[in-house]
Amino acid sequence: MKVNENYKNIAQSYLFSTVGKKVSEYMAANPDKKVIKLGIGDVTLPLCKCVTDALKSASEEMGHKETFHGYGPEQGYDFLKTKIADYYKSHDVELDNDEIFVSDGAKSDIGNILDLFDKDNTVLVPDPVYPVYVDTNTMAGRKIIYIDANESNDFLPLPDENLKADIIYICSPNNPTGAVYNKEQLKKWVDFANKNHSIILFDAAYECFISDDNLPRSIYSIDGAKTCAIEFCSFSKMAGFTGTRCGWTVVPKALVFGEMSLNKMWLRRQTTKFNGVSYIVQKGAEAVFTPEGQKQIMQNLDYYKQNAKMISDVLTKHGIYHTGGTHSPYIWLKCPNNMKSWDFFDYLLNNVQIVGTPGVGFGRNGEGFFRLTSFGSKENTKEAVERLDKFLK
Ligand code: PLP
Repeated sequence: MKVNENYKNIAQSYLFSTVGKKVSEYMAANPDKKVIKLGIGDVTLPLCKCVTDALKSASEEMGHKETFHGYGPEQGYDFLKTKIADYYKSHDVELDNDEIFVSDGAKSDIGNILDLFDKDNTVLVPDPVYPVYVDTNTMAGRKIIYIDANESNDFLPLPDENLKADIIYICSPNNPTGAVYNKEQLKKWVDFANKNHSIILFDAAYECFISDDNLPRSIYSIDGAKTCAIEFCSFSKMAGFTGTRCGWTVVPKALVFGEMSLNKMWLRRQTTKFNGVSYIVQKGAEAVFTPEGQKQIMQNLDYYKQNAKMISDVLTKHGIYHTGGTHSPYIWLKCPNNMKSWDFFDYLLNNVQIVGTPGVGFGRNGEGFFRLTSFGSKENTKEAVERLDKFLK
C-alpha cells in the first residue's frame, strides 16, 4: 500500500495557532487588559428568525410519517434551486435549475471540483490567497503557479499573454484582501480563459457584501463566462450559516471541453460521492430568500458593513494604504513604517491590545500587510477604532 505522498508537500499552516498562542500568553501575563479580536474570520451574529422558524418547522415535519423526508436529490431540492435561480435573476443572470448544485458549503465543493480535472493541469493562483486553493491542488499533485497581487495592481492581478494556465482561481470580493474586480477587469479574465481553453473557478463566497450594483456579484454577469467558469457560493457569510452548512455551485451546461460536459460530470460526481444536504437545512436556506428573510439578513450584513466602514475610515484618516472594507468584511492594510506582518501583530497586541491576522500567512505578497475583519461586535469594533485612532497619531 502506498500513501498519497503529495501530502508531504502541503505547507503546515501555523498562522491561526500561532496567533492563538501569542494572544493567550499575552492575556495570561496581562489579565487587567482588554484584548479586542479583529482577526475573526467567522460570523458572530446568530441566524435570523426567519431561518430558525423554518428550521424548527422542517424538524417538526421530519417527525411525522406524512411529511418525513428520507434521501433527497443529491444536487438539492428544486424548492431551493428555484429560489437560488431567482436570486441570480434579480442580478440579471439567467440560470437553469439543473446548472445549480446545492452543497454543504463552498469549501467542500472547491476541493471536490478537482475530481473533474486532469492531474497534469497547471493551476494559477493569486498570491496572497485563501489557502484552500493551494492545499487542495497540492494534495492532488498539481503544479501551481502564482500571480502577484500587490500594491501596484491594488491586489487585483490581471492576465497577460505570457501566462499559461489550465485552471484559474479568482476570489472576488477577495479573502484576505477585500479587493473586488469590476466588470471590465473580470471580462479580461473571461476572455483570457475562453481564448486559452482554461477554466475559471470563481469563488463568490462574499458576493453578499457588494453594495454597488455596478460591481459584478457573479462571474456570469460577464459575457462569455458560461463557457469558461464554475462559480461557488455560500450561505455562510450571507446568512450566518458557517455552523449550519449550506452553499451551492453553478456549473453551466455550456461548459464543454472536448466531448465532455462539465455539468454532466459534476452531476455524476455528486450523485456518486454525495448524498445531499439535509432537508431541514435546505428549508432554512430557502427562508433566506423570502422577503422577510432578505430584510433580516440585510440587517446583519449592514451591521458588519458598518464595522468595516469604521475600520476603513480610521485608516483613511491616517493615510494608511488599504484595500477592502467597502464591499467586503475584510480590511487589508499596509503595516505602518514598513513593519513586517508579525512585527506589526506583536506591536498592536502589546500597545493597543488589538488582534488581527498577519498578511504573510496568506502568501509571500502578504508580507508587510495585515488583515482586520468586521465580524466582531459593534462595541468592540468602535473601541478598537478609537484605540487605533490614538495610536496611529
Ligand atoms: N471561500 C472563501 C474565500 C472563504 O473565505 C471561505 C470561508 O471562510 C469559504 C470559501 C468557505 O465557505 P463555506 O463556509 O461555505 O464552506
